[in-house]
Amino acid sequence: MDAAARVRAQEVLERCRALGFAAAGVCAAEPSGYSDQFRAWVSRGEHGTMAYMDKHADVRLDVRLLLDGAQSVVMVADQYGLRGDVADERRPGVGRVARYARGEDYHKVIKRRLHALCDELAAEHAGERFRVFVDTAPVLERELAARCGIGWQGKHTLTINPVLGSYLLLGGFVTTMKLEAPPEQEASKDHCGTCTRCIDACPTQAIRPYSVNATRCISYLTIEHRGEIEPEFRQAMGDWIFGCDVCQEVCPHNSARDEQRGRVHPTYAPRRVGFDLLEVLNWSEDDRRAAFKGSALKRAKLEMMKRNAAIAAGNVGGEAAHNGADQQAE
Ligand code: SF4
Ligand code: SF4
Repeated sequence: MDAAARVRAQEVLERCRALGFAAAGVCAAEPSGYSDQFRAWVSRGEHGTMAYMDKHADVRLDVRLLLDGAQSVVMVADQYGLRGDVADERRPGVGRVARYARGEDYHKVIKRRLHALCDELAAEHAGERFRVFVDTAPVLERELAARCGIGWQGKHTLTINPVLGSYLLLGGFVTTMKLEAPPEQEASKDHCGTCTRCIDACPTQAIRPYSVNATRCISYLTIEHRGEIEPEFRQAMGDWIFGCDVCQEVCPHNSARDEQRGRVHPTYAPRRVGFDLLEVLNWSEDDRRAAFKGSALKRAKLEMMKRNAAIAAGNVGGEAAHNGADQQAE
């Protein structure tokens, strides 16, 4: 045990909590234990057109390659939704967006605080270096989150914290500082057991235990995939036009609990559940920019949003949206 590294870790984690993160932990910077699974997933082509997944696979599988002399990783999680907040949000004529994208852009919200923390630490610990990541570097963030005691990777592959549930957004930094997990940091244990709810509920059968075939996943299809969406997936997409929350909604670890449910960072207060499908079908590029300003929705281009809206309109749209879909097809 390195007592000084533990004390430093405790201080860092306290600051993370003071910055409003719902969970935080530390672990040693070590190679991934998912190398074989990750390479098999890529070789099956289940990453689809996300070429960046394959491009820096060596770094992704060894976080030490992100920063010369890396010794430790700090992971944090923001909570964007509470357990038990699952209501039927479907509305005629409205295309839904996944919960994580309904508030301010989490990349900015998390990065801002992590950069401020790393600047402070750099000033206090001369010579130490830091590299922040929030979806911005090739990192297996969920594996690192598990190592940092934030939560286990469920069968749907998302991070689940046993108290907070899975409506979590991850970020972190790698550092040359030596940090050692304090005794109160609990190891992440898998609590999926024999449950298969997410696998059974997935509208496109994208999940096999502990692996998601992205090319079948509605999140990928609506946000990453350019071009046409195969007919076999269109009906299954329902009213989702950006992402999908089905596997999280059915998870028993997101069900209501009387005890502590965590705390949602205020910047994730939802601005919307979704968008009027007819409006999306008639959006100009300026309309799209204005609607997405400051949100994590930017990734979806105009033609993708119109494609998604036309499919959703065909599935669930009301009168207005159907008319819009007709206009779109003309
Ligand atoms: S996000 Fe939706 S489509 Fe993707 S794995 Fe989960 S339930 Fe299936
Ligand atoms: S729905 Fe069940 S199997 Fe899926 S992640 Fe949640 S607990 Fe695990």
